[in-house]
Amino acid sequence: MIKAYINGGTITVTSGKKSTEYPVGAGAVSLGGKWDFENPYAHFSDYNETELAKYARGELSKLITLEEFSLDALAEFDAGRKNKLYISKNFTMTLEYSDSVLPCFILNETKELFALEIMTAVAAGKPLKICENCGGYFFPSGRTDSVYCDRVTDNGYSCKKIGAHRQYRRNSRANELKKLYDKVTKHNRYLKSKGTLSAYQYNNWMKEASEKYASFKADKLSSAEFEAWLLGKEITPAPRARSRSSISDYLL
Ligand SMILES: [Zn+2]
Repeated sequence: MIKAYINGGTITVTSGKKSTEYPVGAGAVSLGGKWDFENPYAHFSDYNETELAKYARGELSKLITLEEFSLDALAEFDAGRKNKLYISKNFTMTLEYSDSVLPCFILNETKELFALEIMTAVAAGKPLKICENCGGYFFPSGRTDSVYCDRVTDNGYSCKKIGAHRQYRRNSRANELKKLYDKVTKHNRYLKSKGTLSAYQYNNWMKEASEKYASFKADKLSSAEFEAWLLGKEITPAPRARSRSSISDYLL
């Protein structure tokens, strides 16, 4: 007999003397991939790794398109199809005493555990997401706005750790370019005050520069492109093609 205990955001699946505990939803999204804990689905007699993984991927690919991740939305989604997974499921449930009183579900097949995981994750307010590092489905273990999962990649770091590092690098690069942007702007203002740049030229440059900066911040312009533009695109008073007033001469 396979039992599943729900305790807040954690699920414990026991089969005989074997027991595995993991965050709800984490098992459903691990099917067909790498397991960071013992695969609870393998305890079921109907377990077929390939088939179940295919089924899970199909179900998750539909769930990810739901506009809202709530029990209402899940029920509505299920109501419209023939092979229902979440509505009118007849689970046998008991209350079991150990350290505390916990609801315990008696499960007969793999899909019941899958449905229970999804339903409990949704009830706990966890949205289904796609990790921006590995591309795998996940339910955030902490903050719901998290964009990285907790899977540990081949290099030994979790997607969350890799993501945090990438974000740090992106932020420090953005700060660096903001400083450069301010420096070039200040320099051009100086050229304008000297009369090397006309007010018209300066204003045009400022307009383009603020547009480029906005594109860079919106990820439409890469940091390398923005940097090249700041350093390379010079406002040189006509007709001289290059003079000591070139922006890069002062900066480099
Ligand atoms: Zn990931």
